[in-house]
Amino acid sequence: MMHALPHFEVALAPPDLRPWLAGDGEIPGFVTRAATAPGPHLLLLSLMHGNEIAGAIVLDRMLRDGFVPARGRVTLGFANLDAFSAFDPARPTQSRFVEEDLNRVWDPAVLAGRGNSVELRRARQILPVVLAADVVLDLHSMLWPSEPLVLAGLVSRGIGLARRMGGPGLIVADAGHASGKRLIDHPRFSEPGTATALLVEAGQHWRTETVAMMQRGVAGLLGALGMGPQLAEEPPARCAEVTETVVAETATFSFVRPWRGGEVVARARTVLALDGEREVRTPYDECLLVMPSLRPAPGHTAVRLARFVV
Ligand SMILES: [Zn+2]
Repeated sequence: MMHALPHFEVALAPPDLRPWLAGDGEIPGFVTRAATAPGPHLLLLSLMHGNEIAGAIVLDRMLRDGFVPARGRVTLGFANLDAFSAFDPARPTQSRFVEEDLNRVWDPAVLAGRGNSVELRRARQILPVVLAADVVLDLHSMLWPSEPLVLAGLVSRGIGLARRMGGPGLIVADAGHASGKRLIDHPRFSEPGTATALLVEAGQHWRTETVAMMQRGVAGLLGALGMGPQLAEEPPARCAEVTETVVAETATFSFVRPWRGGEVVARARTVLALDGEREVRTPYDECLLVMPSLRPAPGHTAVRLARFVV
């Protein structure tokens, strides 16, 4: 059945990425800017989802402005260029990917397997720089209204770096999705080691304030890594851990109201949604709603529930 989406305004123009399409190394669409002083290798990734153009705008501006880090090197990458090339502001939700979600293929067994989608081929092309980088920041935006947040995986080094980044001020620790591993879930970042990957969900797709939040996040991370100016102190971030994923079981799943991502529901047992005969309720007080999907198809995630940690 069709899950009709409301109209989403597109206030951003897709950037002209032609200067960067060839890349300056082995990977088309990936450009590295290095300082003379040694330091970490940071990978800034945009367009993991082809229609999330805010991240591409941020990286395109940095390259056009002649960005060079204060130390180390930064690789700026435009990931799903095939999907992005089909971006149409009249149908902006249609170009998230070509054949499959590029951010669900980062399991080493999947990468090494027999799959041969457009996205798997691109992931294999990108993998060497992912494995070489000390830190990855994967720039995303969201379809539905939500507070900006950082997804940090479950490892303490990710959460620590997200705190030092100084914004967005909401950090969500989570294990990812049953449907496949995200880049931040790759063992290089999710198992003991030193490399760290963060995923920023900077706001709604196609809004100017989302670009500004991404720029703030990139600048904060550069400052935290000693690769750019230190930014002014921000209030300490709040951190929450996802405890459960609510999956829509029926085609009639509906939230009792259009919850906003980042909302905190004060009381346990509050009804969030009706799913056929089932009532979906908050399992505890002060329950954080992570990225509610207001029109979930059966079998898809409707919302994730998270509990604040110290
Ligand atoms: Zn995304």
